[in-house]
Amino acid sequence: MTTTPPEHESVLLIDKKQTTQVQLNTDLLHNDYELLDLVQKKHSPSRAMRLCSVAPIQTGTNPASIRMNATAKKASFSGLVTCNNHLCSVCSNKRNKPNQERLAGMISKSLNTTDNDMAILPDVYFITNTIPRSNDIVKAHKDLKQIFKRLVEELRRLDIEFHYVRSFDYTFSLSSKRGRFFPHNHSIFFFKPTERYKHLKQKIPRIIKRLWKRLSRNRGIEISTEAQKIIKVDNKEDVEQLSDYVAKTSKGSENLSYEIISKRKKARTNDSFTFFEIMELIAQGDKRFIGIYQEFITFHKGKRTIDWSRDIDHYFETLKIEDPVDMEEEEQEDSVSIGISKALYTMIVKSNVRGRSLRCLQGHFTGKFNRSRLILYHMADLSKHLERSYMKTDDQIDRLRDLFAVWLTELNNE
Ligand SMILES: [Zn+2]
Repeated sequence: MTTTPPEHESVLLIDKKQTTQVQLNTDLLHNDYELLDLVQKKHSPSRAMRLCSVAPIQTGTNPASIRMNATAKKASFSGLVTCNNHLCSVCSNKRNKPNQERLAGMISKSLNTTDNDMAILPDVYFITNTIPRSNDIVKAHKDLKQIFKRLVEELRRLDIEFHYVRSFDYTFSLSSKRGRFFPHNHSIFFFKPTERYKHLKQKIPRIIKRLWKRLSRNRGIEISTEAQKIIKVDNKEDVEQLSDYVAKTSKGSENLSYEIISKRKKARTNDSFTFFEIMELIAQGDKRFIGIYQEFITFHKGKRTIDWSRDIDHYFETLKIEDPVDMEEEEQEDSVSIGISKALYTMIVKSNVRGRSLRCLQGHFTGKFNRSRLILYHMADLSKHLERSYMKTDDQIDRLRDLFAVWLTELNNE
């Protein structure tokens, strides 16, 4: 029995005739803290997420010093209590980093043919499996999980030896008619170079596609075979981006060079968006996405985002594959950093300009906000001076208020 017609074409190809007015204004891309100010603080159903980066870290009796930091590419506050949620615009990168590094290490070892005997290296595949769009995300998630579990079992029954890393991903749409949630798996498979594997090697993509179709059908789900992507990973240049992409939770797919993504990019101009693009749309004033944003956060709570096959670390250790030596020294980027008082930070939070204030500081590199930036520096100095004078926070705020008003006006004019 079929529950969903196989018209979906999945994440990768979306019916171009479908017309919706939704469009991302890419000139207007917000920074992490602007998304926090404009979307998360107001709309997240999670209290911890709403309160991310509001209070200073308390060390002993004194609050830590709050700093604003910027490089040409990134800007952040430090000294604040954060929520550490996978879906937080500020915390998600940090949260995903350990997974990304662990996975990158495994892929680059597997591709390091220079320092290793080729005969022991596993083949690496980047696999995307999808099921049709759905309005019932709980059921879709469960289906996806079960079908993947069965896929692993069936592959093992073929006597192929492998390890895998799998993550869930979703894109979103407003169309209930076509299904608002688009569930898919991204996984990296490491196939051990056994005789059995070598024998089946050429057929691996076909086997996986056929299995995915059959196992889905067993659960009453009709999938599109074309939407399943199985790509051999050979290029060492891709390791960083690929591991980042797999480790992320519903983030953008900027710069991923694989074919699958370029198709998805095209598709997205129509009606399918990643989680962070949804935040971007809400920040641009599109209220229609607030519901789906909230529903997804509530659904996502407590879910694992990434699975590692059992003993995968052990496998890479015992194989003694060399890690390629990274010859590039990490470049020290130019940066600018200023300390601000808690009183000033409170005013920034209350005015919803955490993101804007960082953009202002970043003007040091972009050449923008030249007047408001001078006021910001001055205001930061004054705020620290007032803080050292042991004035009450309220009195500090009074003293700072006029300057803050001037700064805000200038910031909005620039
Ligand atoms: Zn956070």
